[in-house]
Amino acid sequence: MTDTLVFYSGPDPFEAWRDALAPHLGDTVKIENADKVTDPESVRFALVWMPPDGFFARFPNLELVINLGAGVDRLVARDDLPDVPITRLSDPEMGKMMAGFVLFSVLRHARDIPYFEAAQARREWAYKHPRAATEISVAILGLGELGALAATEVARQGFQTYGWATRARDLPGVTVEYGDDALLTLLGKVDIVVSMLPLTKATRKRLDAAAFAAMKPGASLINVSRGEVVDEDALVEALRIGHLSGATLDVFEAEPLAEDHPLWTLPGVLITPHLASVALPKSAAPQIAANIRAAQTGGTLANTVSRVHGY
Ligand code: NDP
Repeated sequence: MTDTLVFYSGPDPFEAWRDALAPHLGDTVKIENADKVTDPESVRFALVWMPPDGFFARFPNLELVINLGAGVDRLVARDDLPDVPITRLSDPEMGKMMAGFVLFSVLRHARDIPYFEAAQARREWAYKHPRAATEISVAILGLGELGALAATEVARQGFQTYGWATRARDLPGVTVEYGDDALLTLLGKVDIVVSMLPLTKATRKRLDAAAFAAMKPGASLINVSRGEVVDEDALVEALRIGHLSGATLDVFEAEPLAEDHPLWTLPGVLITPHLASVALPKSAAPQIAANIRAAQTGGTLANTVSRVHGY
């Protein structure tokens, strides 16, 4: 019997993923879009991004759930997730795309771009002497697959680069701090804070009023991970009173961001609609296929997710 891989995603096109995966999977795995599955009992693998409630109940023989992305918060929070291994993508192109977006955002603040945009709106030639990267410090919170690559890229540009995670690790050019107690001190010594933390019980609203108060006056925030890691009311207040000079925000507590949300119009804030990085079929297909093969042959899965830790 041929095994079936069921695909579900709102934003990602089925055809592109099927065409990228087919050459790697050969004849032993049939790839079907969720609404076209002919034999639910043959489905052993699911490649999904935010499937609807009750989705998994249709497939009694599932052996592996592959999250079509890096962030698994929505998936692991579900109460209908079958008791099978979960893997996530760890796509090198996705990592590059994210590192590029983080670098752009760091440079936006380091090179005072919000200041020049405001001056341009006033038709004002407002010279402000640039600072060297070596004079500017950046903290990357979360040094995972994407966070570590972004931190290395920021360090490569010459910024004083710090990282924060749950444990110590070596990253070239990055001073790594770890553990809960280290966070506020770290926030107090850098000019730019980048959230690359997954959303878990421990990180929900981790960047709250106390965290913003601990940040240097005039510092800026970049959030490319999950909106719920930030207490948005506290962020709005920190920006409103001018304690923070700006923010680059790709993710929000509620998406799409409501039309009347104060973040749209606060000075120095750039809003992008959750696109810092996306999963790319061609570069992600080999690792997805390798995990399916591993599941078929009893091999070792890569990029597994811990349900206990939530990432
Ligand atoms: P990983 O899951 O690989 O790594 C998470 C990192 O965060 C690890 O370094 C981990 O520490 C650290 N961490 C987790 N919990 C804590 C905590 N309580 N205190 C301190 N550090 C903690 O994540 P990725 O780098 O792959 O991705 C980060 C996030 O980016 C994803 O979870 C997702 O939400 C988001 N994302 C956003 C996209 C966008 O377009 N905006 C696209 C893709 C992903 P340790 O190393 O010690 O375990």
